[in-house]
Amino acid sequence: MSFKTVERKPLTLAERTYIPQILGGMKTTFKHLVKPKETLEYPEARPAILPGYRGVPTLVMDPNGREKCVSCQLCEFVCPPKAIRIKPGEIAAESTNAHVEKAPEEFDIDMLRCIYCGLCQEVCPEEAIWLQNVFSVSGYSRDEMVNNKQRLYELGGTLPDQHFKWDKKKAAEEAGNDAH
Ligand code: SF4
Ligand code: SF4
Repeated sequence: MSFKTVERKPLTLAERTYIPQILGGMKTTFKHLVKPKETLEYPEARPAILPGYRGVPTLVMDPNGREKCVSCQLCEFVCPPKAIRIKPGEIAAESTNAHVEKAPEEFDIDMLRCIYCGLCQEVCPEEAIWLQNVFSVSGYSRDEMVNNKQRLYELGGTLPDQHFKWDKKKAAEEAGNDAH
C-alpha cells in the first residue's frame, strides 16, 4: 500500500495577522452601510400592500351595511383544508333586508388551517368573502386563531357592490312578483 503525502503550505505573514480577512469583512460592512435598505424594521415599518394581495379571508358588507353572505355554504364545501364552518340562519322578519334568502348565524374561519388559496373568494356567488390585505395573524391559543363572524366583518368592512341584487328583489317583491 502506498501513501501520498499532501504538503501543507505554511501560513503567510498576512494570513497569520488576519489583516486581509479583517479588511475584507470591513469592506463588506461599509458597502452595506451606504447601500439602500432592502429590509423593513417590521413591525414598526409596514410594507406597502399591492392591490390584489391575498391575505386573511374576510366577510364584507354592501354599501348599505347589509350582510352579503347568504350562507349557501359553497365556500365551506370548496375549502381544501376545511377551514370554514358555517351555521346557516334566517334573517329576522322585521329586518329591512328580510326578503333576502338567509344569512349565516355562525361563520368561523380557522386561520390555523387556512392556506390562503382564495378558492372561497372565487366560488362565492355573492362576492361576500374576500382575501384582503391583513397578513399578520397571531394568538395565544387555538381558539384565538379562529376568526368568528363578528371578527370577519370587522376585518372585511364594506366593499362596493355593483349588483344591487337586494334592491331589485325588494322592488320585485313590492311589485307583487316572486323574488326567488
Ligand atoms: S361567503 Fe359566499 S360562498 Fe360562503 S356561504 Fe357566504 S355566500 Fe356562500
Ligand atoms: S383561502 Fe382557501 S383555505 Fe383559506 S378559507 Fe378560503 S378556501 Fe379555505
